[in-house]
Amino acid sequence: MAEANINCIGVMTSGGDAPGMNAAVRAVVKTACKSGIGVFAIHQGYKGMVEGGDMIKKMTSDDVGGILHKGGTAIGTARCHRFRKREGRLTAAKNLIDRKIDNLVIIGGDGSLTGANLFREEWTDLLKELVERGDITAETAVEHPLLKIVGLVGSIDNDLSGTDMTIGADSALRRIIDAIDAISSTAASHERTFVVEVMGRNCGYLALFSALATGADYVLIPERPPIADDWGMAMCDYLAEGRKAGKKKSLVIVAEGAKDKDGIPIKSTNVVSKLKEHLKVDVRLTILGHVQRGGAPTAFDRYMSIVLGYAAVKHLIENGGDTESKIIGLRKNKVTELSLMKSIERTRSIAKYIEDGNFDRAIELRGESFNAELNTFKTLAQAFPSKEKQTKDKLNLLVLNAGSLAPGMNTAVRTVVRIALEGGHNICGVNNGFKGLTEGDIKPMSWMEVEDWASEGGSFLGTNRMMIEGKDYFEIARNLEKWGTDGIIIIGGSTAYINAFRMNQRKNDFPAFDISTVCIPATINNNLPGTDFCIGSDTALNNIVDAIDKIKESAVAVTRTFVVEVFGRYCGFLAQLSGLATGAERVYIHEKGIRLKDMQEDVEMLVERFNEGKRLGLVIRNEFTNKIYTTAFVSALYEEEGREVFDVRQAVLGHLQQGGTPSASDRVLATRLAAKGVEFIESQADNDQKRYISLGLKGGQLAVEDIDRLESQVNLEYFRPKEQWWINLSEINDTFK
Ligand code: ADP
Repeated sequence: MAEANINCIGVMTSGGDAPGMNAAVRAVVKTACKSGIGVFAIHQGYKGMVEGGDMIKKMTSDDVGGILHKGGTAIGTARCHRFRKREGRLTAAKNLIDRKIDNLVIIGGDGSLTGANLFREEWTDLLKELVERGDITAETAVEHPLLKIVGLVGSIDNDLSGTDMTIGADSALRRIIDAIDAISSTAASHERTFVVEVMGRNCGYLALFSALATGADYVLIPERPPIADDWGMAMCDYLAEGRKAGKKKSLVIVAEGAKDKDGIPIKSTNVVSKLKEHLKVDVRLTILGHVQRGGAPTAFDRYMSIVLGYAAVKHLIENGGDTESKIIGLRKNKVTELSLMKSIERTRSIAKYIEDGNFDRAIELRGESFNAELNTFKTLAQAFPSKEKQTKDKLNLLVLNAGSLAPGMNTAVRTVVRIALEGGHNICGVNNGFKGLTEGDIKPMSWMEVEDWASEGGSFLGTNRMMIEGKDYFEIARNLEKWGTDGIIIIGGSTAYINAFRMNQRKNDFPAFDISTVCIPATINNNLPGTDFCIGSDTALNNIVDAIDKIKESAVAVTRTFVVEVFGRYCGFLAQLSGLATGAERVYIHEKGIRLKDMQEDVEMLVERFNEGKRLGLVIRNEFTNKIYTTAFVSALYEEEGREVFDVRQAVLGHLQQGGTPSASDRVLATRLAAKGVEFIESQADNDQKRYISLGLKGGQLAVEDIDRLESQVNLEYFRPKEQWWINLSEINDTFK
C-alpha cells in the first residue's frame, strides 16, 4: 500500500459491546499502519476521549495481535455523560488535536454514532473556542479544518436500517440457537413448555430468526404484535393444537420489546403466567441475557468486521473532503457507504412507529425479506397445514438431497415438506439421492415427520455423489411416471446441478423429465454458480474457524507455524474466508495458484516476523491447490527453511468441517430458498414449457437461473463459478501479513 497523506486516525468502540468489534479495531489499526498513517486507540469510548492521557494510545500492528478471536472489545467501552455536554466535547477535541487526530472510526450503536455526528458538526466551533481560550494555536486549528467520521455499526440486535447485518448480530444468533437447541432437547424429553426471552428492544430480528432457525412454535416480536384481543388465549389455543397434533414440546420465543396490539409490553413473565393459567402446564422460563452478547465472534462477524474496518480506513484516505459522517456497512453482500444520520433517523423512525402502534409501517421499513420470513415462520410452526390455502391444482412433488453432505439439508427438506403440504400438494422424499431416484426408493412425507429437522445436521434422506448415466435415465423416468411427478426439488451440490442439467438435456427422449425442477445450492465448498452462498458453507467456515482457534491455543511456550488444510475441492472460498477470519499469514488456493518462489518469499517473511517477536504463524491451504505442492510438501518446506526460528505442524481438518448442527445463517438460507423452491413450482403449474432452474441468493436478492444457462458461468474444468465475489478479499490478507 502506498503511504497516504492524512492526519492521524482514532479508533474506538462505544456503547454496548458486540463480538466482532476486536476484528474491526484490528483491521483499522493494521490498515492504517500499512498505509503509513498514525493510529490511536481511544480506550473506553468517549470516556477515554474526554479523559485523554493514557486512554488514547498510539498503536502498532503488533498491539492488535491475539484479539481477533476474542469476544467483547479489547480497547474497552463505556457510557460517558460528560461527552453529552459541550464542555466534555471541547475537552475531547483538545485531546484529539494534541495528537493530530482528525479522522475517527467509531464502532458502536446508534447512540455512539449520533454523538459522533454532533461532534463533527461542532468541530469548527469547538476549535475556534480552543483557540480563543489559548489552548491551541490558530495554525493548529487550520491544520485540522474538518473532523472526518466513519461509523461501523456494532449492535447485536441487527437494528440499523440500511445495512444487512450489524457487527455482533450473527454471533448473538449463534449463542441463541445453541441455547435453544439445548433447551429443545430437554423440553422434548420431558414434554415441557419453554419460554425463552431474547434481546431486541425495538427489533425482532434475533427473536424471529432464532425461532425460524430452531423450529420454535411461537414468537412474539415488537414489530408484529398478535392480532387477537386476548393474545394469551390465542397463543395457548395455538400451542394446544400443536400438542394435540403430536408435538412433544412447546417453545415460545419472546423479544424483550414484544408488545400487544395496543402497545402494552408483553413480558416473558406474562407469557409464562398465561401459559400456566390457560394450559395448566409446567412452564420453564429462560432469559438468555448477556450470554447473547458474549463469547467468541462467528466466522461471519470476524470477516465482515475486517472487511468493514479495512474499507473504513480506505474511505478516510480516499475522501479527504467528506462533509458528511458516513457509515460503512454491508448491503446486498457489498461494502456500502451510507449517510450516517439518514440511517439513524430511519432506524429511529421504526422505533417511533412501533411506539405509536403503526406496526404495518414498521414492518415495511424492516424490508421485504423480514416480512417474508415472518410469514414462512408462521406456516412452518403450524400444527398441521391450514385448510384455506390449499390450491385446486394438487401437485405431486419429490424432494431429494444430492452430492456431499452439507449441514442445513434437513432444514431445507423440512421447509419443502411443510410448504408443499400447506399448498395442498403431495410431497414424497427420495432416499439416497439420485440412487434412490433410479431405484424407486421414494416415500410420502408427513407434516409431523419433519417437526425436529430444522436444527439437525446430516441428511435424514441420505445423500451421495452418484452421477446419472446410461440406463439410469430410463429408471428415473419410470419412477417419475409411477409417482405422477409434477416437480422435483433437489437440494445439493455439483452432483445435483449436473444431474439436473443432464435430465433437462434429455427432455425430448424422456417426456417424464418435462417437469419443473428446482436446484437448491447446498455444499460446504460454496462452488456453485447462481448464488453467493450455498447452504452449509457458513457452518463449515465456523467449524474451521473454531478448530483453528483451538489449534492455535495448543501452541504455548513454543514458536510454531501451523499449516492447515481445508476442504473446498477447486474452490478457495473456505480457505480464503477462514484465512481472513483467523488472521492467517498466508492462504494458498487453486484459483491463485502456488509457486515455489512465492512460498520461499512467504517463509522468509515469516522468519523475519518471528525474529521480530512473533510466536505463532498460520498458513491455510485449500486441499486441491496444487498436486505437487501438497500440504505435506508445504509443511516440509516451511519446517526446513524456518528451522532456526519456528517448528511446523500440519493439520488436515477433514470431515469435521462437514459435521455438526447447521449455523443460524445456513438454517435461514435453507428455509428461505426451500420455501421459494416450492412457490416456484406452483407458479409453473400452468406453463406448457417446464423449467429447470437453480435458486440462489445474489447480492442479498433471490436469484433464479435456468440450469442450462449456468453452464457458461462455470469453470467446467474445475467446477467453480467463473466469477467469485470473495476472490479479491485476498487483498486484505496481503495487506495484513
Ligand atoms: P449505543 O452506541 O450502543 O447506542 P449509547 O446510546 O449508550 O450506546 O451511547 C454511548 C455513548 O455515546 C454515550 O454514553 C454518550 O457518551 C454518547 N452519546 C450517545 N448519544 C449522544 C448524543 N445525542 N450526543 C452526544 N453523545 C452521545
